[in-house]
Amino acid sequence: MKPDMQDIRSQFPILNKEINGKKLVYFDNGATTQKPLCVIDAEASYYKEFNSNVHRGVHFLSTQSTIAFENARNTVRKFINATSDNEIIFTKGTTESVNLVAQSFSSMLSKGDNIIVSRMEHHSNIVPWQMACQMHGLELRVAEITSNGLLDLQQLSSVIDDRTKLISITHISNVLGTINPIKEIVDLAHKSNIAVMIDGAQSIAHLNIDVQKLDCDFFAFSAHKMYGPMGIGVLYGKEKWLEKMPPYQGGGEMIKNVSFEGTTFNELPFKFEAGTPNVAGAIALAEATRFINETGIKKMGEWEHELTNYALGKLTDMGDVIFFGPVQNRSAVISFLLKNIHPYDAGTLLDKMGIALRTGTHCAEPLMKFFGINGTMRISFAAYNTIEEIDYFLESLHKVKQIFE
Ligand SMILES: *Cc1c(COP(=O)(O)O)cnc(C)c1O
Repeated sequence: MKPDMQDIRSQFPILNKEINGKKLVYFDNGATTQKPLCVIDAEASYYKEFNSNVHRGVHFLSTQSTIAFENARNTVRKFINATSDNEIIFTKGTTESVNLVAQSFSSMLSKGDNIIVSRMEHHSNIVPWQMACQMHGLELRVAEITSNGLLDLQQLSSVIDDRTKLISITHISNVLGTINPIKEIVDLAHKSNIAVMIDGAQSIAHLNIDVQKLDCDFFAFSAHKMYGPMGIGVLYGKEKWLEKMPPYQGGGEMIKNVSFEGTTFNELPFKFEAGTPNVAGAIALAEATRFINETGIKKMGEWEHELTNYALGKLTDMGDVIFFGPVQNRSAVISFLLKNIHPYDAGTLLDKMGIALRTGTHCAEPLMKFFGINGTMRISFAAYNTIEEIDYFLESLHKVKQIFE
């Protein structure tokens, strides 16, 4: 363990847990990260000290609650360097953020327009677009990948035409670990006035995100994959789009005036936040951004990179391992198969040894189809993981191999 990362580990109570009599080795960070005490405490203390509905009351607690909620929005804005708090919409998570844009943005398009997603998308960045396309008579096109798991930029250029209105693409593949060249894609798209939405679910905890630098039109992420709580996430959208787009859901909070003759909508960001928001979640998300800032995202990313390279090397040495994804310029996600061993069987045995990893299709069936497989094993790292854990995992994997020999 890197000495300066030791501190971090002690902040995660769950990492001391034993599973099946073995010390937990948590390698399922791509599905959700564990939460540090400061985040758990932020969520709990909201309910202990401030709980009250926001934006409505004149009473003390409601005012405090509203201030804390709006401060959280401002903290999140700074974290991704958005220009204005109006560009930060709180949602349930990446999935809801994509659904919001898919429904609202698509409703402004004309029959016959098209939207592009890539082969490596999570179902969350496919299905909402399929639904929107069906509803509005739009066409969904696919940006393909190469056999080593990189986006095929040439092919992408060839599916763009003058009816293309939006490209929605993942920043980092949750299966392959591929880091997509977002800036290049944005530049290409903007030349033709095409908007770009980034699924940032896998990048937000690993890369420094600056939405102004990326110049993307939309950016979605979930708090629970960046050491924050479940049930809260963010849609960043450029104000010029959010102003134009119609509301996604109707209800309280998102309106200015309601009458049966006609209703007027609230201003940004409230126009897109119907109903009582997850106030405690937003506050705990803001705490998670502070945790990341204090630890240093660059340092965290470098450590995760070291872990990934170490694991890749050792797995390669082991033999009989088939990898999916690029060799270089990749994130802390490793998908692989052991020859002749079903990932589910291996995963079940590894669980008995205290190791949490993911097996299956990782919500990316079109990608599985591309590789002609039914699933993989996936290990994914967070900053609190250690070399010792990887060694133990490799030892355990070796045992699994022996059992099946
Ligand atoms: C996890 C994930 C999602 C979905 O996130 P939710 O928190 O379940 O809404 C979308 N895209 C990618 C790449 C993911 O890894």
